[in-house]
Amino acid sequence: MSASELECFTEVAAEFELPDTHCLHVGLSIVAPAIREHGTSEQKAYWLRRLWRGESIGCQLFSEPDAGSDLASVRTTAVRDGDQWTITGQKVWSSGAHISDVGLLLARSDADRSSRHKGLSMFLIDMSDPGVTVRPLKQINGNSRFNEVFVEGVSVSDDRLIGGEGNGWSVARTSLNSERDGMAVSDTLFANPLERLIELAREVGGSQRPEIRQRIADVYSRSVISNWMMAGTSAAAGKLYSTDTSNRLCSLAVELAGIAGVTDSGDRNRYCWSEMLLAIPSLRIAGGTDEIMRNLVGERELGLPREPR
Ligand SMILES: Cc1cc2nc3c(=O)[nH]c(=O)nc-3n(C[C@H](O)[C@H](O)[C@H](O)COP(=O)(O)OP(=O)(O)OC[C@H]3O[C@@H](n4cnc5c(N)ncnc54)[C@H](O)[C@@H]3O)c2cc1C
Repeated sequence: MSASELECFTEVAAEFELPDTHCLHVGLSIVAPAIREHGTSEQKAYWLRRLWRGESIGCQLFSEPDAGSDLASVRTTAVRDGDQWTITGQKVWSSGAHISDVGLLLARSDADRSSRHKGLSMFLIDMSDPGVTVRPLKQINGNSRFNEVFVEGVSVSDDRLIGGEGNGWSVARTSLNSERDGMAVSDTLFANPLERLIELAREVGGSQRPEIRQRIADVYSRSVISNWMMAGTSAAAGKLYSTDTSNRLCSLAVELAGIAGVTDSGDRNRYCWSEMLLAIPSLRIAGGTDEIMRNLVGERELGLPREPR
C-alpha cells in the first residue's frame, strides 16, 4: 500500500465505527513506513503484509535512559560476526512492547562514537527472543502502555538489518516523520472527537452559549488547519499545532462534562475525556518534545542559526 493509498483508506475508514486498532498503531505508523522506505524487496514482501494485516504487532525501540531528544547518542550496541549481529542494551518508553511480536531497534553498530549518526544501524528483533525482557511502566492515568526493554545478547541475521549498515539514522528519521504525521487530532484522540464534542455540548445545553459555540468553532478550525499542516511539508509544526488543538478540545469537553468528567458516572461520552486530557502532556513529549519541534521549525524551516551544541 502506498502512502497515498493509506491516506485514502484512513479518510474512508474515519466515516465508520471500526474496531479499535490502537494496538496496531506503532506497527502501522512507525515500523511499516521505515520498512516501506528502506527495506529490501524481501523484507517488504514479508513484513509489510504481516504488519498491515495485524498478524505481527510492532513496537519502536529507539529511546534509552540517556538518549531521548538526543537520539543519536544511543548506547545499545550491535556487533557483527559474519552475517550475524549480537545486540545488547536497554530501551525505555517503548509503547506496546509488552504486546509486540517485533521491535524496530536503533543500535550503535560502529564502536567509534565520534561517527555518531553514521555509526547507527536499524534492526528488527523478535520480542519473544529469550534475550528480551519487557518491564511495563505505570502511567499517571493508571494505564501501562509503555515499557522498559532490556536486550541481552540477542542474535539477529543480516536479513533483519533495515536500510543497510550505518544507515540507521536515515531509517529513524523516516519513522519519526511518519510518527509526527500520525499525531493529528483525530489520530491521537478517539474516533470523531469533534462530533463527540458537539454531541456533548448539545446534551449539556452548552451549544446555545455563545462562548462555547466560539470555542467549538475555534477547535474545529484548528483541527482543519492542523490536518493541512500534517499533509503539507511541516510534520514538526503540524505536531505542535495539533497537540495544542487536542488540549483545547479535551479541556473544553471536560469543562462541559462537569463532575461526570472527573468521576465516572457511567454516562457515555463524559469520563473518557478526562483520560484524554491526562494524556495530552505525553503528546508533548512522544515523537519528539515541543522544544525539539520548535528547534526543528526554527532551524530547518525558518533558517535560523543552529542551537549551540
Ligand atoms: C506517550 C509516549 C510514548 C512513547 N513511546 C515511545 C516508543 O514507543 N519508543 C521509543 O523509542 N520512545 C518512545 N517515547 C519516548 C520519547 O521519544 C522521548 O520521551 C522523547 O524523545 C524525549 O526524550 P526524553 O524523555 O529522554 O527527554 P530528554 O531528551 O531528556 O528531555 C528532557 C527535557 O529537556 C528538553 N530538551 C532536551 N534537549 C533539548 C534541546 N536541544 N533544546 C531544548 N530543550 C531540550 C526536552 O524538551 C524535555 O523537556 C515515548 C514517549 C511518550 C511520552
